Amino acid sequence: MYGLPEKKSKRGLAWGQMLPSCQFKGCNNSRGLGSMWGRMSGYQLNDDSWFCSTECLEAALGQQLSMYFHLEPRPQPVRTTMPMGLMMLARGAITDPQLREALRLQQSTGERIGSCLMQLGLINEEDIAAVVATQWGCPVFPADSVEPACSLLLPLSLVERYCMLPVHLVAQGRRLFVAFCERVNHSALMAVEQMLGCETEACIVLEPKFRQVLEFRKHDLAGEVTVHRPESSQETARIIGSYAQQTGAEGLRVRAVEGNIWARLLCHNSHLDLVFEEPPS
Ligand SMILES: [Zn+2]
Repeated sequence: MYGLPEKKSKRGLAWGQMLPSCQFKGCNNSRGLGSMWGRMSGYQLNDDSWFCSTECLEAALGQQLSMYFHLEPRPQPVRTTMPMGLMMLARGAITDPQLREALRLQQSTGERIGSCLMQLGLINEEDIAAVVATQWGCPVFPADSVEPACSLLLPLSLVERYCMLPVHLVAQGRRLFVAFCERVNHSALMAVEQMLGCETEACIVLEPKFRQVLEFRKHDLAGEVTVHRPESSQETARIIGSYAQQTGAEGLRVRAVEGNIWARLLCHNSHLDLVFEEPPS
């Protein structure tokens, strides 16, 4: 298992941490021996709250997740970057007649302008990566420094959905370079930071390298389960709770990436990712 080093607390444990109380408001297990047992068998959620039992965890999660089940369909984000074809023109990589030729090809094939320009032999993958990097204000990551094993830090379903690949860890594992191909997804990046407990740096990798690492990543599907998101937050919470109980998880982190729910169950020396994919609108 390829993992980040666990955060080490410099301070000793406070009494409140050693004897936590259940954060579920409806908990009726907060006194007596039940809670003593709960302290040994409960769940730490998102590093900031603790629940004494699977029942309390499920009930609280059901409430927390409900907001993601009533979101209006999101409008397409407004494109704020200059289109690829115009940027190639501005860089002097192509001429105006060449751009027109590529646009005609795009009309007949429906492919992206970048791949049309490549088909015409006018630019290469490095040109595309350089332009995408300029569009999103981040660097092109050197292909030689990509660590394929880093890709195991994220569940494959999210890697594929957002075309994002963790490629390199620095600062004793506290900073992670996450590579994209076409567009940087900041909401996915934020979820990665919160789930992995590290900082992230967005970067761009050349598409052939991306595809190569993606193939590597596809060979390891252990440690993750991807299902369609259930209709209700309560049902989603129930499934998470059930997995938490079955795996003997000590803690878990749960975040939404747009309408997808990503839960990571932290077990002794390993983890299990559950991804609940948003139904297509
Ligand atoms: Zn409780």
